[in-house]
Amino acid sequence: MSRKKLSEQEWQTLVKLAERLEISLPALLGRPVRFSEMELAGHRLGRAVAQLTTGRLAGERAEQSPPREPCPTCGKACEVEHQQRDLITVDGSVELSEPVAHCSACRRDFFPSACGNGARSAAK
Ligand SMILES: [Zn+2]
Repeated sequence: MSRKKLSEQEWQTLVKLAERLEISLPALLGRPVRFSEMELAGHRLGRAVAQLTTGRLAGERAEQSPPREPCPTCGKACEVEHQQRDLITVDGSVELSEPVAHCSACRRDFFPSACGNGARSAAK
């Protein structure tokens, strides 16, 4: 991994985001702290940003799903709704919006994302 430097503007953005996530970076600069405390704060921020990014990406992709999907059993076009659920990722819990459809003919729910491009398929 290349070692990138943050611009002052990028650092200030990170500080504000960290504050919003209840990780106070300025508090670490205002007093003598061990390196491990700074490292832990950076790690917590990284994980929090990863969780938010994963949730946002998955949510935006879910919003792009078509309003109707064919039932994998009978082929009937079924209306797609969105369900919220928690998913445990390598960076912690992420709230996902996931498309789900119900086929009234087959009396079953199915997850269009399980057909190839969602969290369920990625978990295989
Ligand atoms: Zn069906």
